[in-house]
Amino acid sequence: MQKERVVIIGSGPAGLSAAIYTGRALLKPVVITGTQLGGQISLTSEVENYPGLYNPAATPTGPDMVALMQQQAEHFGARLVYDEVTEVDFRNGPPFTVKTYGETYSADAVIVTAGASPKHLDVPGETEFVGRGVSYCGTCDGFFFRGKDVAVVGGGDSAMEESIFLTKFADKVTIVHRRDELRAGPTLQKRAFANEKINFVWDSVIEEIEGNGVVQGVKLRNVKTGQEEEMSVDGVFIFIGHYPNSKFLVGQVAMDEHGYVITDEFMRTSVTGVYAAGEIQDPHYRQIATSVGQGVAAAMQLERWLAEQE
Ligand code: NAP
Repeated sequence: MQKERVVIIGSGPAGLSAAIYTGRALLKPVVITGTQLGGQISLTSEVENYPGLYNPAATPTGPDMVALMQQQAEHFGARLVYDEVTEVDFRNGPPFTVKTYGETYSADAVIVTAGASPKHLDVPGETEFVGRGVSYCGTCDGFFFRGKDVAVVGGGDSAMEESIFLTKFADKVTIVHRRDELRAGPTLQKRAFANEKINFVWDSVIEEIEGNGVVQGVKLRNVKTGQEEEMSVDGVFIFIGHYPNSKFLVGQVAMDEHGYVITDEFMRTSVTGVYAAGEIQDPHYRQIATSVGQGVAAAMQLERWLAEQE
């Protein structure tokens, strides 16, 4: 059992920001990175809405930001462990127990920032063709669709942003949306409508993803008329929202009906000494800037709480 003052679960913007603040408070935080160092922003192309980092000549990428945050966290004494949490025991603490594949940690306080993952459509063919035409990340896989036709599912900001990105590679991007108006904000809507490579199929859902070894097409159904049609595509990109990565917390902290960890305005969970920040507790904003702010708030609150204990 490794004894630590602070364990941070997750290494996205919330986790690394919490690491910078608890590091500067000389608490030597241990960050369990999870499978993806940096979380979802490592899969993001250009970040143009993070305050203070705007540079039209060289827009920073998600991986650029992760590298900078990691460097800053390590500079202030954080230790990153490339492992995944399998189990926690928050009910018999503090100290709290955090188990990973490689180690068991005992921590005086914990910040949970395990983030969220993309939702699946759950239609036939989806799982079968993951990595063979089905993708949840344009930035990662767009390159493989040079000169090809792809479908994008979803009507939110992610679907618009990723569709615009995909037009760098694909000849044609068809956005399939289940309603006849978009959820995305006006700026991204405008950019998507103005893009000649993007077209829309409204009021429609994908019933099945078809192919032979790789994706070759989709079966569409119009939800208003019930009419079905086939569409030939080489890829299907799915951006229909996220679910929180909170399975390992079931029975440990209070969650809402969707599995988001419930926190108060001080980022405190239902267990004193356990804090949560970022998308694991925030279904509303999901911005790098908001996750950073929540990570900082959790770290400051934790520091105060630990000081009160002494
Ligand atoms: P979202 O806003 O929840 O949008 C999800 C979209 O998928 C909606 O259009 C929804 O349709 C559709 N959808 C959901 N389940 C579906 C299903 N089973 N089948 C077909 N369609 C389905 O998710 P998001 O686009 O990932 O955005 C999440 C948050 O991140 C938002 O707050 C967004 O503003 C933010 N974000 C911001 C930026 C940016 O500022 N640059 C970029 C990306 C994301 P309905 O519209 O009918 O519900």
